[in-house]
Amino acid sequence: MFEKILIANRGEIALRIHRACREMGIRTVAVHSSADADAMHVRLADESVCIGPAAARESYLNIPAILTAASITGADAIHPGIGFLSENANFAEMVEEHGFVFIGPTAEHIRQMGDKVTAKQTIKALGLPTVPGSDGALKSLEDAQAVAKNIGYPVLIKAAAGGGGKGMKVAQKEEDLPEAWRLARSEAKAAFGNDEVYMEKYLARPRHIEVQLLGDTFGNAVHYGERDCSIQRRHQKVIEETPSPGLNAEERRTIGALAAKVVQKMGYRGVGTIEFLYENDAFYFIEMNTRLQIEHTISEMVTGIDIVREQIRVAAGLPLGCQQKDIVFSGHAIECRINAENPVSFTPSPGKITNFHAPGGLSVRVDSAIYEGYSIPPYYDSMIAKLIVHGSNRNECLLRLRRALEEFVITGVDTTLELHRSIINQPDFINGHYDIHWLENFLGLD
Ligand code: ADP
Repeated sequence: MFEKILIANRGEIALRIHRACREMGIRTVAVHSSADADAMHVRLADESVCIGPAAARESYLNIPAILTAASITGADAIHPGIGFLSENANFAEMVEEHGFVFIGPTAEHIRQMGDKVTAKQTIKALGLPTVPGSDGALKSLEDAQAVAKNIGYPVLIKAAAGGGGKGMKVAQKEEDLPEAWRLARSEAKAAFGNDEVYMEKYLARPRHIEVQLLGDTFGNAVHYGERDCSIQRRHQKVIEETPSPGLNAEERRTIGALAAKVVQKMGYRGVGTIEFLYENDAFYFIEMNTRLQIEHTISEMVTGIDIVREQIRVAAGLPLGCQQKDIVFSGHAIECRINAENPVSFTPSPGKITNFHAPGGLSVRVDSAIYEGYSIPPYYDSMIAKLIVHGSNRNECLLRLRRALEEFVITGVDTTLELHRSIINQPDFINGHYDIHWLENFLGLD
């Protein structure tokens, strides 16, 4: 097992990884920008290294500085966390070339799944259904028009290098296509430096269902059940729950087993998530994330398994800690992502936290790196806390979540706490009747 892990990230996820390491007896190295000198992930780590100024491209994305920090502190392995360099195949390669273990899949798998056109082709060949659309990248507007005519409007143009919902544009009808084509490509170029796009049928009322997976270097793979992440704003997840209120037990078993089989056939090492859209009783693959996900927590709550610990064990060359038959699903879990944002305009609200009181009690978990007196810097993601609640069934989980949200106090900055309180009291949410467009309709954005 590793003796020391460098965590190349910040915020709640750096803390989450640090916690798994501590419980495994592994020492931790935090890296931080000059703006994060007082951050909790720095305070709790055994050692810390400042790797650059506030701007992420000069610190958390600064590969030479991170490798140097690992070298001078004598770390054995690097955990990339979520975001930043976690899906950067070049980084994974460089980490290994410099003699450290990359806690994640092989660079080859990251590359293959990072290009969404290749990912779709690969996954389709491995037997999963995909959303009808172009065979590969679109060559021209004429090509796009021909594909759209074939699959029927509305259609969605998506960036091959996509992520975070960027470079994605809907064309409701033929007249909208030239504009969607132009906008998707320029947004993709600006966000990813790559304007390659592809087309999918735009599904009208799907749910977002994803399966949490883990593979080891011995060819074993398991799934930790599915998560429903349909409560989204601008293609970004806001609330996640497991199990999905939209699936029955048979569908749940089938999709979990199918996804685990794919990961096994790929010879995939590490944690990963296969994402689907689900509409009219059918699943359609949309993408695979080759890293830990923010919402891994709810899968932990219903399985009792520390997924980060499993991830570290597999990276250290150990076999899976348990087989599929040993994974027992119990009860229901929901996560609310709480952002420091204006609740109406959703613009980020950095600044000093004047009051912080996290809820507690049975089956309530708060993953957060903020504290009273902490100043949220304006340079990074606006998510400041995750509230995760478990109940023996969905109803108990909802009642507990309502109580926990009532207790939560964060003052000094604007937060989305009130939005969460309001969503979970809507009859549609209580009844589990929602799809990926529900939240935007509720907010009056559609
Ligand atoms: P990204 O990598 O940018 O997050 P995804 O392919 O994972 O992109 O899609 C993000 C979200 O966009 C999905 O959860 C869903 O809400 C929406 N979406 C993606 N593809 C489609 C589609 N074909 N039809 C309708 N909505 C879609």
